[in-house]
Amino acid sequence: MAVATNLPRALSVYEEIHPPLSESQVLLESDRCLECGGPSAPAPCFEACPAQVPVPQFIRAIREGRPDEAARLIFEANILGGSCARVCPVEELCEGGCVLVKEGRRAVQIGRLQRFATDVALQRQLHFFSRTQAKLQSVGVMGAGPAGLACAAELAKRGYEVVIYESRSAPGGLITSAIAPYKQLREPLPQEAAMIERLGVKFHYGLTVGRDISAEELKRRHVALFLGVGLGRDLPARLEGEGLANIWNSLEFIEAIKNGDLPKIGSTVAIIGGGNTAIDVAREAVRLGATSVIILYRRTEDQMPAFKHEVKAARKEGVHFYWLTAPLKFIGEGRVRAIECIHMKLGAPDKSGRPAPEPIPGTEFLLEVDTVIKAIGQERHSKLLEQFGIALAGGLVKVNESFQTSCESIFAGGDCINGGCTVVEAVAHGKRAAAGIDQYLSRVVEVKP
Ligand SMILES: Cc1cc2nc3c(=O)[nH]c(=O)nc-3n(C[C@H](O)[C@H](O)[C@H](O)COP(=O)(O)OP(=O)(O)OC[C@H]3O[C@@H](n4cnc5c(N)ncnc54)[C@H](O)[C@@H]3O)c2cc1C
Repeated sequence: MAVATNLPRALSVYEEIHPPLSESQVLLESDRCLECGGPSAPAPCFEACPAQVPVPQFIRAIREGRPDEAARLIFEANILGGSCARVCPVEELCEGGCVLVKEGRRAVQIGRLQRFATDVALQRQLHFFSRTQAKLQSVGVMGAGPAGLACAAELAKRGYEVVIYESRSAPGGLITSAIAPYKQLREPLPQEAAMIERLGVKFHYGLTVGRDISAEELKRRHVALFLGVGLGRDLPARLEGEGLANIWNSLEFIEAIKNGDLPKIGSTVAIIGGGNTAIDVAREAVRLGATSVIILYRRTEDQMPAFKHEVKAARKEGVHFYWLTAPLKFIGEGRVRAIECIHMKLGAPDKSGRPAPEPIPGTEFLLEVDTVIKAIGQERHSKLLEQFGIALAGGLVKVNESFQTSCESIFAGGDCINGGCTVVEAVAHGKRAAAGIDQYLSRVVEVKP
């Protein structure tokens, strides 16, 4: 089966989808904010932000010509406020809560205003924070992704010695390696990490916990630990022909683009999966010049885990969707040439409570493709996490409301506890875990004679 093409104008691989606002746009946009909220009812935009960025207050500071103060308010709440300004699904969060929307008007562009304020401050290398009271206790943080960075920054502000152990050679986790380059290539993550370093946090790169350093050794070195190790590699499809050339894993595909090593794709690209990663790789395939880009998803559109606004944007860029379609095997001689697919129907609810997709016998068909990208989820770090002797559920860390694990000196947050969500959610976990660690260590000190 060949696919019709309807792609719009050529989009560039690295062109930002949300470029910075001009100064006059900043003034006009900040003027649209109604400054909702008060002591008895917080503004809906603030309530919708997992990191609790005080949106009306920072927008007022911008409007009054105090962008430094705006940036301070943002970074105080979210140390990755510049990155989140670029990558947050604002449509689902702050901008989705904007009261203007309820009045049928366009939301204030909160993300782009946040970007303006944080860009100004980072360009000028402003120092907002310092360690208040130095404490001698040392906390170890596993992973320099958003959860680990936020936890480390918050602990350092509270005076703790903090050491981050990171297996890669740079900070940022998935922001650096996996988030679509049209949202954020790298900047301003390196400057945000530098801000955290200026707080006294020590970074050890190229050190894989569980291989280069054991969980036991970390427990000996530090009075408390925070696990922010995220998730692992792409899950395999476990289908015949998976080893053929031109079949990519989503994370390797995006990382190659982020590193400037553009994947050579053919004209027809099929993506397997229904989450935000599937949407990202589809939109990247469009930007790399594919003329037909098709997402195969085994359930229906309304059951797709991807954000609705992302699906809409992908469709606008020409991405096709084949709902209720599953791959059976990959076919080719050396390189993939086709996917044998089958149509699905929805049956009785499965473990997730959603109707389970079931193949319809006799509906097999061949889809001719040049490239396949698998985006069906990431592995969990069960083996690594087991080494810490903490309780897990389905390979994810079990935590209480303070982000404390079943071992009282070990805390965790981010994707390794929720199976994958957003950067701002991981930041919020890191912050709240730091508060939990602080409380736990204060109690430990109190009971010591
Ligand atoms: C393709 C893709 C696109 C996404 N797009 C968006 C988006 O547009 N917006 C958004 O808000 N969210 C997005 N997300 C989700 C977001 O990136 C994650 O929710 C967030 O990065 C989770 O942060 P984390 O700190 O928990 O984990 P990670 O970002 O995965 O960071 C974990 C860190 O731990 C390190 N690590 C792992 N194991 C070890 C070890 N044994 N020793 C030492 N270090 C270790 C890793 O190298 C990594 O640096 C996307 C996710 C993916 C996969």
